[in-house]
Amino acid sequence: MLAHLLRLAGIETIVLEARTRDYCETRIRAGLMEQGSVDLMEEVGATERLHREALVHGGIYLRFNGRSHRIDIHGTTGRSMYIYGQQEIVKDLIALQLAAGGDIRFECSDVSIDGLDSDRPTLRYVDAAGDETRVTCDFVAGCDGFHGMSRPAIPESVLQTYDRQYPFAWLGILSESPPLDPELVYAHHPDGFALFTMRSNTMSRLYLQVAVDEDIANWSDDRIWSELHHRLEGEETPPLIEGPVLQKSILPMRSFMTVPMRFRRLFLAGDSAHIVPPTGAKGMNLALADVAVLARAFETFYATGSEHKLDAYSATALRRAWGAARFSWWMTSLTHVFNDRLAFDNMAQLSELHYITSSRAGAETLAEQYVGLPIER
Ligand SMILES: Cc1cc2nc3c(=O)[nH]c(=O)nc-3n(C[C@H](O)[C@H](O)[C@H](O)COP(=O)(O)OP(=O)(O)OC[C@H]3O[C@@H](n4cnc5c(N)ncnc54)[C@H](O)[C@@H]3O)c2cc1C
Repeated sequence: MLAHLLRLAGIETIVLEARTRDYCETRIRAGLMEQGSVDLMEEVGATERLHREALVHGGIYLRFNGRSHRIDIHGTTGRSMYIYGQQEIVKDLIALQLAAGGDIRFECSDVSIDGLDSDRPTLRYVDAAGDETRVTCDFVAGCDGFHGMSRPAIPESVLQTYDRQYPFAWLGILSESPPLDPELVYAHHPDGFALFTMRSNTMSRLYLQVAVDEDIANWSDDRIWSELHHRLEGEETPPLIEGPVLQKSILPMRSFMTVPMRFRRLFLAGDSAHIVPPTGAKGMNLALADVAVLARAFETFYATGSEHKLDAYSATALRRAWGAARFSWWMTSLTHVFNDRLAFDNMAQLSELHYITSSRAGAETLAEQYVGLPIER
């Protein structure tokens, strides 16, 4: 997305990617886009397939005490969410960038940065053919995810990190089965949180809260379906339709923030700077918002020579990132069973869920953050 926004501003980029194109295009991760993310796709002209295939959602269900309650997000905010897989976004952006003559280099290994102290940092890497290669540039955007090389390239003394690990994980499955409901269902249940989401009208994605050290080998497909029926169904809901499980995995839950998001000519964006638990569906949307802010800062620099937006990047991006981190932590705290909590805490969760689903102010607070606040650029 950053490469697209910069190309449209006439700024040349080179994208170095560690994986193959096929791997990037089939890596299944996020599936819910905020309206602001769709607006960015629109801005770069990448929505042709998205508008044809995405499912548009105007609300979510919160389920507790055996009943589902709808939060009318579109009615409250005038904005919608879009169900469109991250791998589909990646596919669309890669195809468009290559068609426009953009330079994306796949299968780059041993990437490292030299000369961050200078005005012209250099990236060294081994290309797909095994040749050592260098790229010298004005700026480096560290968009290489949580395990990338950008954040570790910044001296530890410069960075402050904030880490919160949660005492549970999510077991996620991708199932070839139609949705339980046309919208997402977040279920608070005494035996643990469950989430129903979908990728399309024939593909469902479902999650169960499990122990933090859970072994996937302990979860047969039958056991997973039985637990999903138990946590997601009620008398007033249609039964969950089972289908072949195409993929299953355990996801750890973590909040991690890096401050600042810049060191000299290196700018961190997305998961390289922060990760959030997936409960609020924020990770991918936050990565897109970061690069929207960063692109505007580069545009201003190249158009006017002024560095004021580059200097403001970290603070601007972090304001939004902390908002998303807080919201994701809050959604997680509201809906999961914490073993170290007292029965009192469970009753407080239920009371808050009741407040959100019965008060306009409560519903609005959730709705405007869930659908995504405007991107400050
Ligand atoms: C299993 C899983 C499920 C998820 N589910 C959800 C969800 O449901 N909702 C949600 O909002 N978010 C979800 N997320 C989070 C979301 O996918 C991320 O927040 C998002 O991908 C961040 O985008 P990014 O571009 O910052 O990083 P990434 O998407 O991780 O992209 C970084 C890229 O850099 C490449 N790279 C890494 N190291 C190097 C290197 N040294 N040199 C060159 N290239 C490198 C990687 O191959 C990758 O292509 C999930 C994440 C995971 C792992």
